[in-house]
Amino acid sequence: MKREPISRRNILKSVALAPALQTAIVSCAMADEPALKGAAGIDRVTVLTGKTYLRGWAGYGNPPQAYRGFGAPPPPPPEQTGPPFSVLWSKESGPGQVTFADPKKLVTTAQFKTPGYYVLRLTADSAQNRVTSTLNVKVEAPPPAKQLDAVYTKNFTIDSPLWNARVKALMVGWIPHCIDQINRTDLTLGPGGIDNFVEAGKALRGEPHGAHKGYVFSNAWVHQTVEAMSIALMIDPKGDREIMAAHDKMRATLDDWIPKILGAQQPDGYLQTAFSLPRVDGKGKVDNGPFKRWTRRGDHEGYTGGYFIESAINHYLMTGKKDARMYDAAKKLADCWCDNLGPAPKQAWFDGHQEMEQALVRFGRFVNDMEGGGKGQRYIELAKFLLDQRANGSEYDQSHLPVTQQYEAVGHAVRAVYTYSGMADVAVETHDPDYQSAVKSLWDNIVNRKYYVTGGVGSGETSEGFGPNYSLRHGAYCESCSSCGEIFFQWKMNLAYHDARYVDLYEQTMYNALLGSTDLEGKNFCYTKPLDARDLRGPWHNCPCCVGNIARTLLMTPTWTYAKSDDGVYVNMFIGSTIRLENVDGTDVEMVQSTNYPWDGKVTLTVNPKAAKNFALRIRVPRRDVSSLYRPTPEVSGLAELAVNGAKMKPVIENGYAVIKRAWKAGDKVELTLPMAVQRVHASERIDATAGKVALRYGPLLYNFEAVDQDIAKSLAKDTPLTTEWRGDLLGGVMVIKGKFSDGSPMLAIPNYARLNRGPAVQAAPPGPSEGGGGPRPRGPAISVVWIKEA
Ligand SMILES: [Zn+2]
Repeated sequence: MKREPISRRNILKSVALAPALQTAIVSCAMADEPALKGAAGIDRVTVLTGKTYLRGWAGYGNPPQAYRGFGAPPPPPPEQTGPPFSVLWSKESGPGQVTFADPKKLVTTAQFKTPGYYVLRLTADSAQNRVTSTLNVKVEAPPPAKQLDAVYTKNFTIDSPLWNARVKALMVGWIPHCIDQINRTDLTLGPGGIDNFVEAGKALRGEPHGAHKGYVFSNAWVHQTVEAMSIALMIDPKGDREIMAAHDKMRATLDDWIPKILGAQQPDGYLQTAFSLPRVDGKGKVDNGPFKRWTRRGDHEGYTGGYFIESAINHYLMTGKKDARMYDAAKKLADCWCDNLGPAPKQAWFDGHQEMEQALVRFGRFVNDMEGGGKGQRYIELAKFLLDQRANGSEYDQSHLPVTQQYEAVGHAVRAVYTYSGMADVAVETHDPDYQSAVKSLWDNIVNRKYYVTGGVGSGETSEGFGPNYSLRHGAYCESCSSCGEIFFQWKMNLAYHDARYVDLYEQTMYNALLGSTDLEGKNFCYTKPLDARDLRGPWHNCPCCVGNIARTLLMTPTWTYAKSDDGVYVNMFIGSTIRLENVDGTDVEMVQSTNYPWDGKVTLTVNPKAAKNFALRIRVPRRDVSSLYRPTPEVSGLAELAVNGAKMKPVIENGYAVIKRAWKAGDKVELTLPMAVQRVHASERIDATAGKVALRYGPLLYNFEAVDQDIAKSLAKDTPLTTEWRGDLLGGVMVIKGKFSDGSPMLAIPNYARLNRGPAVQAAPPGPSEGGGGPRPRGPAISVVWIKEA
């Protein structure tokens, strides 16, 4: 695996000495790379009044390389063979004063008083020469003091041609399939479902029992599927017999599984079956333990525990807060963690795979909402403690630096986005400007340097992880779980900043990366999502992470569609639905969306407050150009039309939302039209893989070219008119894009989510990468591509 030296672009080489004196600013995204649209590339965002942590290097020869957590560690730093030198940090440009803690130290901090764009300079000076590196810093005001309120998932109705079918496939196909697989005791690929809980329960009762099966974190199959079932049971079946039968199966499964899950919980609340059962390694060697908790980074204790805690939230909501078995057990587990881990005399520790952090904040807020009195606060505090413990490790699990000093998205992509999602939670809860700065810098680095046009993340150049800046090869890893984590991260940024652009991003990931995770029938799924697919989906995988995550994330429609503030309602997504929002400035409001989006742009919103009430309705005005890596043309922006109870209006647009403030009464109607047009998307010339290529989009949907329709090695003609056509007979009904290749033959593009649904079925998922070891595997010819040549 080729490793990029850190910040190669930024090193000014001297010809005067060999090896030359050099400087580098390490452990951050590097500067000097103007983004596609002309704005200077940003290396850091610093939120007032936080610090910018500076880690400079100066010396002779190439600077040290970061260990990317894959393969052999890089060579040690070169020996210093030149004359002595001094170093100095200074401000090159910027609107205000910059204070360095110690400008003569390579590792130091800078602080700012005035927002704006700054360039900081690191100079190394020897008797013979002087070299410099620079760092671009954007200094900005902190986010609003209060975040938006999340909308919990409660009983709701979906009524949208696209989503009706997708949701039904998950409920009737995918979730029942997951239940069946998890109930099996004979699986060789991806074993270790509910049977691990049954055996662990026997072990706890002192009865004869079997060994643990599957990965140490195989409990994730069960916990995520419990949450997916709980959410699915809140969706109105609207009399559909197949959905009603699937609901019956889910209810029966929960009745069967919950006593088994809770029977495996240890008396003090700890829960992970691999800690109660003998473990068997790949060679059949049995390890009878005992297994000491909180000692090994690879045991995924927080990973599985976090999913259990999260599953309890939606289970409790699904039962109308009547069945508290899961909720109480989740509190017991969270309390067990809080009682044992924390500042001295408790134990300091962190898990190698993040998830517990964001679960603890989600659960802490939920407990605060359910019980009041700040009872959930200790869970939120432990989440921060766990994040603050990350240090002295590697980029692979984001422990190479304290999290507040991390500015570049690196390492395993699921772990990374789960970290950043948890950090965004902690930033909101604490208002800590160093947390806010790191979160915003990481966000900027992902969106403007490491983001696929599908909204997926993780090129796979490091183990299942992020590659260098702008290195976005089509054979991407883009694991389904990293799409889920990317959605959580962007959603939390929306709640923190009250800004629609974060929804633009999670909508992008939802439609184009996550929605196509399963096939149209919900029978097979993708673990990874290359942009030049060679394989169809498979029915199962050896790794338990994605299968339940896909369903639980996609089905949480109320949460993604709306948010609340003290003065009203935010409409974030356009999905035909009926969703009740509790306590909007003191009254409940039923929101009814009627739309055929994304097949056309007309949306009717009926606002039904229980009591007439003054409040603001903020409707997102979609933008398709939030990432500076991609330029869609022609520009399609704004609202084509907006009317309230038939009267046209021109609303004020704030933070990407059209704001309508008025006295609302039941039956009030807002009609809007979102502009829809086919767009050609070109990527920054900094991305090598997309040179000379084009992608197509229509509204929020990115498109795909399939070999089953045409020769995908051909070039799309630059000047061909691109038209849309509704094809009710194709792929369950899709809007296709038509045009001509440069040889005059017809071109057909289908929505990316509907790709890989035509072709021979595969019998089993290809052997996936094991945890921590995702190397390249042989690849046949592409059968489905997002980017196509343009000539
Ligand atoms: Zn996964």
